[in-house]
Amino acid sequence: MKVKAYAALKEKGVLEPFEYELGSIGHDEVDIEIENCGLCYSDVHYIDNDFSNNEYPFVPGHEVIGKITAIGDQVKDRHVGQRVGVGFQAGYCKTCECCYSGDHNLCEDRVAIFVGRNGGFADKVRVQDLSAIPVPDGLDPRTAGPLMCGGITVFNPFVQYDIKPTDKIAIFGIGGLGHMAIKFAKAWGCEVTAITGSESKIEEAKSYGAHRVVISDDIDALKKLKRSFDYIFFTGHAFKGKWSLFMNALRPKGRLHFLGLLSEPLNISMFNLLRGQNSISASPVGGPEAMKRMLDFCNLHSITPEVEFFKMSEINKAIERLKSGEARYRLVLEN
Ligand SMILES: [Zn+2]
Ligand SMILES: [Zn+2]
Repeated sequence: MKVKAYAALKEKGVLEPFEYELGSIGHDEVDIEIENCGLCYSDVHYIDNDFSNNEYPFVPGHEVIGKITAIGDQVKDRHVGQRVGVGFQAGYCKTCECCYSGDHNLCEDRVAIFVGRNGGFADKVRVQDLSAIPVPDGLDPRTAGPLMCGGITVFNPFVQYDIKPTDKIAIFGIGGLGHMAIKFAKAWGCEVTAITGSESKIEEAKSYGAHRVVISDDIDALKKLKRSFDYIFFTGHAFKGKWSLFMNALRPKGRLHFLGLLSEPLNISMFNLLRGQNSISASPVGGPEAMKRMLDFCNLHSITPEVEFFKMSEINKAIERLKSGEARYRLVLEN
């Protein structure tokens, strides 16, 4: 079976139509006819070979929504015709300590959807059964794609740290990740503070559920947040001010948690950590069970990412839009 995809043929290349043969299906694999696929900045990093280990032709795309068209002979709990979503991870070893504990996302042998295989900017994709997450009937499939990578990245800590409705949360950065984090935190029942560098985003952040918005350049305002938060979720790539401002804003035992890669090493003094018994941590996307819980949570609370739509054939236009930084906030490519 031939797959019609879009591939970068070389490092930093534009995406071009590209066909490949799928071959025979594995015992625990499912084939998916793709309805749409979200575009995430990680796709751009891989197209540009920012991690220096990419192979070309390269088919990006890791926020897939579609319907199962075929299953392997050992697939028990997925069926043909079922709508599923797939994120960054397309397979797990299923037998390691992490997989047995439900932490598949931390499995050492996890497989990225487009490393050594081909991703979701295509009409079809093949993945392991566990990584194809059933999409609940009530959830709008057109806007569900961005939940599969961006969404689960910011939802995962709510599950990992048993966040309570009485917790006070700050979200730094109102972008592709941050705007979803605000919606999740609000629906979770928490007090939500958004921190942004851009005054133009104040009203937007409030419309997503932020109870208050603080401007990150306003040092006095940040200082006034002393001992305010149980969690600060950092979704940006950099912060030009002093990290002690954020550490001081944590309540005792509070946690500064990173949900993206910072462009510089962290510079935080031990004193900042020790005095309030505070923590610094980071996490990648979540595992299959956390993804399923997230989709059910979004369905129950009518949470959808803010999305701009493009046709799959407009993939290069969508990439330009993403790079412009103007997109509000996630981009979805439709077949
Ligand atoms: Zn992503
Ligand atoms: Zn494993």
